Amino acid sequence: MSEGQLTFFGGVAKSGGVQVMYGKEKQALLFDFGVEHSSLLFPTQVTLYEPVNATPGRELRQFLLGGMTAPLLELYDPDQRKGLDEASVLRAWGGTEFPRYEQIHLYIGHMHTDHMALLPFAHPDLPVYMSHDSHALFRGMVAGGHSLDTKARITACDDLRVLDFGDFTVQIVEMDHNATGASGIIIDDGTHRIAYTGDWRRQGKHPDRIDRFIELCRSKQIDVLITEGTRLTADPSSVPYQMTEETLLSRFNDLIGEAEGLLYLQVSPRDLERMADMIAIAAGEGKKLVMDASLAAVWDAANREGVRRLNGHPALDIPIRILDATVTPDLAVPYETVSLEEVAEHKSEYVYFFKFPSLALLIELETLGDAQGRSMFIQSDYSVKIDSPAISKFLNAFGIAGHSLSNGGHAHPEALADLIERIAPKTVITLHSKFPESQNTKGIPAYFPTKGETVPVSSILNSVVSSVKG
Ligand SMILES: [Zn+2]
Ligand SMILES: [Zn+2]
Repeated sequence: MSEGQLTFFGGVAKSGGVQVMYGKEKQALLFDFGVEHSSLLFPTQVTLYEPVNATPGRELRQFLLGGMTAPLLELYDPDQRKGLDEASVLRAWGGTEFPRYEQIHLYIGHMHTDHMALLPFAHPDLPVYMSHDSHALFRGMVAGGHSLDTKARITACDDLRVLDFGDFTVQIVEMDHNATGASGIIIDDGTHRIAYTGDWRRQGKHPDRIDRFIELCRSKQIDVLITEGTRLTADPSSVPYQMTEETLLSRFNDLIGEAEGLLYLQVSPRDLERMADMIAIAAGEGKKLVMDASLAAVWDAANREGVRRLNGHPALDIPIRILDATVTPDLAVPYETVSLEEVAEHKSEYVYFFKFPSLALLIELETLGDAQGRSMFIQSDYSVKIDSPAISKFLNAFGIAGHSLSNGGHAHPEALADLIERIAPKTVITLHSKFPESQNTKGIPAYFPTKGETVPVSSILNSVVSSVKG
């Protein structure tokens, strides 16, 4: 009987882009389906201005030929591959031979592009699993034009659901990260247990989810723990701590009280929970909410699908308006629109959720109407940082006070070490990190895979035993 093995396609010594395949006998599970942040191309994001995007219609060819995604053609939509054959795709991997399985299942941990960018190009027959809230968010992203849709069959899973693939089982465990619905997994093949955290943090709203994952892993006695290590640096002792979500939201509340003009807000539309909290806080301070049409479409469609984490949240009953200038013919407009002139005329009444490419609208909003030079800009964990020249020249031009309210989505190095120590696996693998060797594993042996490597789980365990003895 053949034993379980792991193949590493992405996320090795790089930030983002975890693509690992666990396979046993005829079945395999690929976990996560994005591309690394430092790839030649990064997937198009409508919230950003990215000069080098994949060519529309040729994205999959470029990701495959660039070695940015697993070269297993059965994973991909034949219409999107446009005649690429296996030999040309394998050249990017130096002709490496990869294990083949009768059925590959895909699990997607969360809806950040470095974990899901390939989903729109998945084969129609590929079975895809994700958490219920990740699926709701994905429907929102498609409605808002933030992602292309997929032909693949998605199964939205309840928290803690166990999927049985015959040769092994996979349990979905919801975590805490700045993408709503983020979850990790525990694979159990009867011989070995492998846990994958996905992206995670302790400073978020739900540290109890992390403790629950740790307890589950402890009870199952994990052999191989795979964690992210995004915040590791060459010297992890110098990595600053980040504020908790509670502190962040209370600072947001204070700033709203100080804003005399329009309050511009950039927050990631992948973090629906923070969006909801900020909507509720702003409304509680007497503000009206106005959004870019594409952000409103994400918010509306995700909640229409049903975001369990937001069950009963007061934000769901708060009216949202859409800035008329951001309406485009290709987007559904789920709420009433409000004119740019009306917002400019009554700046102090509004909080405006907008995306980076809409910065040009500040020229009109700030030069028309009342309260000029008294607006405030708050950026809350967004891909374009507040000190980027593209933002600061606008703030300077119009005398707008800028504030950053960010705590990131990733665990502090001390939280990483604590998680490893408490789970106490036989070995640990740090992915999604430029400095995996900086991980403090609390004496637990580490394994450092290489990109494209396939290795039996027992060899990982034996190699760390022999390296510890030697
Ligand atoms: Zn990531
Ligand atoms: Zn992420």
